[in-house]
Amino acid sequence: MPIKILDSEVVSKIAAGEVVERPASVVKELVENSLDAGATQIAVEVQGGGVELIKVSDNGAGIPASELELAFHRYATSKIGNLGDLEKISSLGFRGEALPSIAAVAEVEILTQTSSETIGSYLHLRKCEAVHRESRARTQGTTITVRRLFRYFPARFKFLKSVNTENSHIANLVSQYALAFPEVKFSLVVDRRPSLHTTGNGDLREVVSEIYGQEVAQRMLKVEQTDGLPKVGGLTSPSSLARSNRNYLSFFVNRRWVRSPLLTRAIEDAYRGLLMDGLYPIAVINISLPAQELDVNIHPAKAQVKFCHEQTAFSSVQKTIEETLARTHIASSKSVPFSVSSGQWQSPRMIMDNEPAFAVAQLPAMELPVLRVLGQLANTYIIAEGPNGLYLIDQHAAHERILYDRISAQQVQKEVETQGLLQPITIELSPREEEILGASKEFLAEFGFTIEPFGNRSYMIRAIPALMAKANIIEIISALLDNLASKEPNPWEEKIAQSLACHSAVRAGQQLSQEEMRELLKQLEQTKQPRACPHGRPTMIHLSSHQLEKEFGRIS
Ligand code: ADP
Ligand code: MG
Repeated sequence: MPIKILDSEVVSKIAAGEVVERPASVVKELVENSLDAGATQIAVEVQGGGVELIKVSDNGAGIPASELELAFHRYATSKIGNLGDLEKISSLGFRGEALPSIAAVAEVEILTQTSSETIGSYLHLRKCEAVHRESRARTQGTTITVRRLFRYFPARFKFLKSVNTENSHIANLVSQYALAFPEVKFSLVVDRRPSLHTTGNGDLREVVSEIYGQEVAQRMLKVEQTDGLPKVGGLTSPSSLARSNRNYLSFFVNRRWVRSPLLTRAIEDAYRGLLMDGLYPIAVINISLPAQELDVNIHPAKAQVKFCHEQTAFSSVQKTIEETLARTHIASSKSVPFSVSSGQWQSPRMIMDNEPAFAVAQLPAMELPVLRVLGQLANTYIIAEGPNGLYLIDQHAAHERILYDRISAQQVQKEVETQGLLQPITIELSPREEEILGASKEFLAEFGFTIEPFGNRSYMIRAIPALMAKANIIEIISALLDNLASKEPNPWEEKIAQSLACHSAVRAGQQLSQEEMRELLKQLEQTKQPRACPHGRPTMIHLSSHQLEKEFGRIS
């Protein structure tokens, strides 16, 4: 369809509002346009948190030279034409508002070419006015460059968060679209650093691996429900793999990334009784249904949708996920958790994934019974006996949980114990680390750090949290800054507490005395979630007496 300005009747039906709230909203609109143009490759580059530069290039259909100026008119779109079209929107965009809204708050350049043209067209706009236009070489596709976002809008500019925060919103956004469109090759470069790259080979698991890491990707369960409507597909975590917040839940409806309390509830319902309080699954779920069963015209940023049949959408997702989880359990309960014939003890992780009787995260009781230490295995696991069987406790994960709870409690209650260093330590930071330190200084102070600038990217560490390990202070601080810069969207307080706990906890491979093990278990019993470490991994495996009797053929 050629680009046309919507008539006033259609315009009056459009959910109006602010389209460009922050740099990530510009990236969102441009990426959506590329996807609507059928692109199979989308390259995003940003600088200065997106305020200095946002550049999105695609190999999509392009805009014909004759329609280029029109694309920047309010309500000019090639995606819908009349009121009827509003009821069955199959494209991501439809309101013709993004390009003019962006051009109103930034300087924009566009270079585009369609398949039927022999040369591309270039247009440069300042304050919504075309200042230069020419023919320029390009292959088929579109490149839009946005500079000086909000420069002339001090009020808006002031509300932007740090470069780091804006970057993390942008990275999250591109990640979500990469998850929704595994067949599209995405790349993201932030301040000249490659930040994300997908191959576009259509394999969702591969995209998950790029974003959440290989281990998560391997363990995710395939979700597939193709009979009836809506169809539900994607990947979801087994009950032994969880996170301490909901940021790892991605929902797409007809591949539009949406925030949906309804779907969040549906998935949480499916995991009820399988995950402890405070733990949430990782999931990437797409729901497909005919466009007319859906209203996408209810939110200015198109981040919400309304299902015509909410209850059906809810129960399809809940049931499909429930069945996926149940199927995995049934399939694996047939397999023997210990491979008796080979005399081998399967890795705890495999048992965790497959066998519900062992899946620690599924035990409803949060408290731990009193445990009696029997010994240490491979200098890594504490073997203990409880009133109902055998417990294998991961010493590192358990200590991590203990430290995390204490560090968080001290910070929340503002009763942080610090320890001054008699001999201050100097640390030299990379420019990136320095940037993160600058942004997180106040948080670090709340946790008991005193770090002062010492010139030339050097810093003096004068005090550290009392609970932090005293060895390798420099390494711990580097790891901490690294974690703060990571893509994980957790709040900084959580990241700091996690990092400190992780790097201060006893390691696997460290020999512990009987007394130390007893003390560790005693402290673990007193934590709020003794059965999972702060990353959501289990701290222990429980083999119930019943299970032992079954395995030894004492009962059938
Ligand atoms: P909408 O996406 O709601 O139609 P936009 O303001 O985002 O409105 O874009 C206006 C029009 O410009 C689109 O309808 C489309 O025809 C064209 N357009 C924008 N970006 C691209 C692109 N990357 N490739 C091809 N056409 C594009
Ligand atoms: Mg658009």
